[in-house]
Amino acid sequence: MFPKQTIRIFISKFQDAIVTKNFSVGLATMFKIQNYINGKLQNALSGSEINSIEPATAHTFATIPKSNESDVAAAVLAAKNAFPAWSKLSGEQRMMYLMKMADGIEKRFDEFAEAESKDSGKPLSLAKSVDIPRAISNFRFFASAAQQFSSESHAMPDAINFTLRQPIGVAGCISPWNLPIYLFSWKIAPALATGNCVVAKPSEITPFTAFLLSQVCIEIGLPAGVLNIIHGLGNEVGQAIVEHSEIKAISFTGGTITGKRIASIAAPMFKKLSLELGGKNPTIVFDDCDFENTVSNVVRASFSNQGEICLCGSRIFVEESLYEKFKTAFVAEVQKLKVGDPLEADTKLGAIVSQQHFEKILSYIELSKTEGGKILCGGNALKPEGRCANGYFIEPTVIENLPHTCRTQQEEIFGPVTVLTPFKNESEVLEMANSVPYGLACSVWTNNISKANRIAEKIEAGVVWINCWLHRDLRTPFGGIKQSGIGREGGMEAMRFFTEAKNVCIKY
Ligand code: NDP
Repeated sequence: MFPKQTIRIFISKFQDAIVTKNFSVGLATMFKIQNYINGKLQNALSGSEINSIEPATAHTFATIPKSNESDVAAAVLAAKNAFPAWSKLSGEQRMMYLMKMADGIEKRFDEFAEAESKDSGKPLSLAKSVDIPRAISNFRFFASAAQQFSSESHAMPDAINFTLRQPIGVAGCISPWNLPIYLFSWKIAPALATGNCVVAKPSEITPFTAFLLSQVCIEIGLPAGVLNIIHGLGNEVGQAIVEHSEIKAISFTGGTITGKRIASIAAPMFKKLSLELGGKNPTIVFDDCDFENTVSNVVRASFSNQGEICLCGSRIFVEESLYEKFKTAFVAEVQKLKVGDPLEADTKLGAIVSQQHFEKILSYIELSKTEGGKILCGGNALKPEGRCANGYFIEPTVIENLPHTCRTQQEEIFGPVTVLTPFKNESEVLEMANSVPYGLACSVWTNNISKANRIAEKIEAGVVWINCWLHRDLRTPFGGIKQSGIGREGGMEAMRFFTEAKNVCIKY
């Protein structure tokens, strides 16, 4: 007889063989993505499926389960059953599992990167340099946090208080399509590290790497029910997770409208809520900046991942005295960016994630023209030759001459579109930068550190970068204010979110 673990690994290797064999970019093979519930891969209980489309080619390449509240209920039951044993493990034991998850992704690095690029349209080079390394780091970072997590004590003359930090039970994690495994793992890892069991839903638009992660969990022998991954539509599976009375905390990243809806359901149920929502981030360029470095980094901050990063700067304010020089250099750099097949090594912008999102972005470009905007470069859909001829591509677009109060400057477009606006002084730029309903991130470009600090203090944002962008230390608090969300992720903030603090007072 084989021990159970060996059988499990054998089965998973067999499943890998099926997926790996089929997983060759360009082949017209269909993949079947499955839910991961109670340690097993399975179809939706209803048997229904949804097609998954590769945005670079507009071809259907996979099916995912169209799950509903019955699948969520099965996952919650599995998570509840797994919770007593998982929560009793030592931090070191949980650390070992999370380390193995990181190793498991790393072992299949290329497969994860190809899947991420195929699913989302992002350049393969970006998936290899950012998304997959970050997912691995997320698991390693929270693995060590599991071992090092400690709590406070408060001494009184006649007593000692100590804080017990206990896991919540079953946590719900819901993530978006723009950085699929990067953000999925950013939630799951701290939830598991603190001893919770998890019911998680990736975006139905980008399910592939979450499915590969479930295979990794089977391979490494993660106990059944500790992590459950359910695929399907947001308003069915996502909503069922939010509504389930046994799920005590919801960690959500996505759009502000969805966040409001989730809050309206979860708040009356007194669930813990972490909401990471949209942004309309300002980039502030002063005339004393390090010019070359600023231009190249502001291009990156505007167009990385086709502008589909919540932290991208989509409103660039440039000091009047530098405006014309900056505009000329910036537009020249943007025009050099190659848009096209995500698989080609020199591609800088891949496909927009879906037809619906592609149409939304194009409609904003049209809107900007009616608002008086002048398109300095881009502004059009693009049809690359060859296998990507039917894909959803948009040229990187730079616009000027728009009032800061117009819709193009106020609403989140979440695509390769940015607007240049001149400013006279600090107070004017702060007024324009803070005029939006969002408050996620900001970048400031100047060699005057006092000026940079004044802006950092007064800007309405949860994250401020000075002379850099997306320079991340995983220990720092991450999140937004205003309509960009509530709560903070990252480091100890995440460890605290996924635990309840209980004060114990012992009188001498
Ligand atoms: P959505 O809000 O549409 O979706 C996010 C997730 O929520 C998806 O898994 C979605 O499922 C699910 N969902 C949709 N409806 C519901 C519902 N009623 N109840 C529960 N879950 C639901 O966002 P997008 O996927 O379009 O992502 C883009 C948005 O995410 C942008 O606004 C961007 O700014 C924001 N974002 C914020 C970040 C931050 O850290 N602040 C980081 C990254 C993105 P499905 O896709 O299957 O419908």
